[in-house]
Amino acid sequence: MKILLLDIETSLHKVFTFTLFKAYIPPKQIIEPTKVLCWAAKWLGEKKIHFRDCRDKDFIDKIYSLVNEADGIIHYNGKSFDMKHLNREFLLNNLPPPSPYTNIDLLTTMRQNFKMASNKLEWVALELGYEGKVQHRGVQLWIDCQEHDDPKAWKEMKRYNVRDVTEMEPIYHDLLPWIKGHPNWGHYIDEELICRNCGSDKVKRDGWERNTVVPYQRYRCTNCRTPLRGRKKVKDDNGKLLPQPSTV
Ligand SMILES: [Zn+2]
Repeated sequence: MKILLLDIETSLHKVFTFTLFKAYIPPKQIIEPTKVLCWAAKWLGEKKIHFRDCRDKDFIDKIYSLVNEADGIIHYNGKSFDMKHLNREFLLNNLPPPSPYTNIDLLTTMRQNFKMASNKLEWVALELGYEGKVQHRGVQLWIDCQEHDDPKAWKEMKRYNVRDVTEMEPIYHDLLPWIKGHPNWGHYIDEELICRNCGSDKVKRDGWERNTVVPYQRYRCTNCRTPLRGRKKVKDDNGKLLPQPSTV
């Protein structure tokens, strides 16, 4: 299974406006709409970081081919932000939808499971004991890239973008046992008993699930600590205990 970590940065809309405070800006006043400025991506478990900015020729083609290859994509708010921005670029570049992939949106996992003071990636990273984001010059960084094409600003943008992707990897591992709807490694590895979330065969029995009509064997992955449930019911129709299930 191929899992991609991905983060994008988008440009500011360039607009005409009469009002500075709480402005409503109709589409007619848009000089230049937002676009993807740059992206950073990395295959889970690999070292190489892929990065392109909008000055690169294969800027969209490259990220399209990575997304196309991925079975799952890890991002932070990517389901409604990154992937939709990328889809727009694909459409405008006359590319068809990429092959289906599963969104592994870590922001969704944060919202579903925890009550943090803030769900911003930077805050979550700090709370989990990581470094946090690269400090940058704020909105001026975007202006210096998109308006002034300042090479130093582009370098800073790259550092910032890449850090978000490398930051996400340990957070993904921390959150892994909490992630619902993770693509199932069981569909990709031909083993009898493996963890659906990480593919490890280091799975131990962990009691019984009894709030169902028939009990199911529970397991726990000792690698990523995901709680698992056996697929087979363990009693037959006469209430007789069946042999232990061998797959999860
Ligand atoms: Zn596991």
